[in-house]
Amino acid sequence: MNLEELIKNHPLIGEMAAGKEVVWVNPELTGFPASMEGVSVSAEEIAEAEARLTRFAPFIQACFPETEKTGGLIESPLREISAMKDALNLRLDSGIKGRLFLKMDSNLAVAGSVKARGGIYEILTFAEELALTHGLITKEDNYTKFADPEIRRFFSGHSIHVGSTGNLGLSIGIISAALGFDVYVHMSADAKQWKKDLLRSKGVHVIEYSGDYGKAVKEGRDLAVGKPDSYFVDDENSKNLFLGYAVAANRLKHQLDTQGITVDREHPLIVYIPCGVGGAPGGITFGLKQVYGDCVHVFFVEPTEACCMALGMISGLHNQISVQDIGLSGKTEADGLAVGRPSKFVGKTIRHMLSGEFTIRDEKLYRYMKLLMDTENIFIEPSSCAAFEGPARLAGAPETAEYLKAHGLASHMENAAQIVWATGGSLVPEDVRKEYYQKAEELENR
Ligand SMILES: *Cc1c(COP(=O)(O)O)cnc(C)c1O
Repeated sequence: MNLEELIKNHPLIGEMAAGKEVVWVNPELTGFPASMEGVSVSAEEIAEAEARLTRFAPFIQACFPETEKTGGLIESPLREISAMKDALNLRLDSGIKGRLFLKMDSNLAVAGSVKARGGIYEILTFAEELALTHGLITKEDNYTKFADPEIRRFFSGHSIHVGSTGNLGLSIGIISAALGFDVYVHMSADAKQWKKDLLRSKGVHVIEYSGDYGKAVKEGRDLAVGKPDSYFVDDENSKNLFLGYAVAANRLKHQLDTQGITVDREHPLIVYIPCGVGGAPGGITFGLKQVYGDCVHVFFVEPTEACCMALGMISGLHNQISVQDIGLSGKTEADGLAVGRPSKFVGKTIRHMLSGEFTIRDEKLYRYMKLLMDTENIFIEPSSCAAFEGPARLAGAPETAEYLKAHGLASHMENAAQIVWATGGSLVPEDVRKEYYQKAEELENR
């Protein structure tokens, strides 16, 4: 790869290489039907994933009492945040129109982050296949049977490996341990201490590496692949993770319907999701497109130093390029987004579905975090706060202002529902929350 030539062909990559915040509108976005051509995932597979989660609901409810109110479904509230909207408009002159909502995957049961969707689904899929193959269960059984000592003993002879910056490890670790598997989480240097401690307290083996996320994934893969009793959760390529995330879309539709919020051409839905390797935001985007087609517009947000998905999509090189290749560090306080190389599978799947991307400097994460606490008394982790860059800049940035006009949205923004996807936070310990808040105050007073 020749960097000079890459920048000549894509001047925006030059800005990204210089560490600047950018706004990118995807020139390859097409209408929904065309975007599905050649895609290897289908709406039927999302329906199968929903059915599988329903089969497991009694087991989840039995293992995790906090899911009792939802009958064993792991789902999060959709909350309107008008005070935050007003603050963004007043303080940052964001010009947000319509209604602003927070999709609180920060508070998902079991794992406290968006990873409770994909990670848990992937392990349940593996466990079900294993149990069916070995005649330990039938699909008609009540799945509380998965808590039986016989099945747990059988699972304990199987190991699960996953590479993680933190939250994926939490989700895979907790559900795997609940099923009785022998689970190993390979953690990158960015991983927070409290996440490692929490996992160890659940009997999960945590292996630490000095390198970045890519290294942790590679080590996990090398240890697991080729061993008949080992399973490797491949965050960079897993279709099952993607499907678990995609299930969010129908659930969200149900919530919007229940709250009386219309989505159609005159009432657009605009969604902002923080992006790491791409699985979570990609799966959610894919699901939302199946439900709302051209009426939904999805933007990702990434840290300036770890803008791997934007880089892969703009260059068209996907996982063949890393942020280090353009001289960026890949280091960010947003541990959930500290990924240098994007998923190949996701970039190619949503290439014609994603509306665009914003990148954000780290200190702004804390500014949004504090603003949300001060206005709504809601805490979400810094990684998660990246999503606020979307509504904060949509109307003002020339690139996205143009997008709104080109798609006939400009005149309908008063009717729009805008959703900031909060991807993590509820498990963050109180002392760590205090540290974050203090840091935010210091940044504000500087
Ligand atoms: C993992 C994560 C994301 C992004 O998900 P990817 O699948 O890595 O793109 C966003 N926010 C938080 C808090 C996360 O843990």
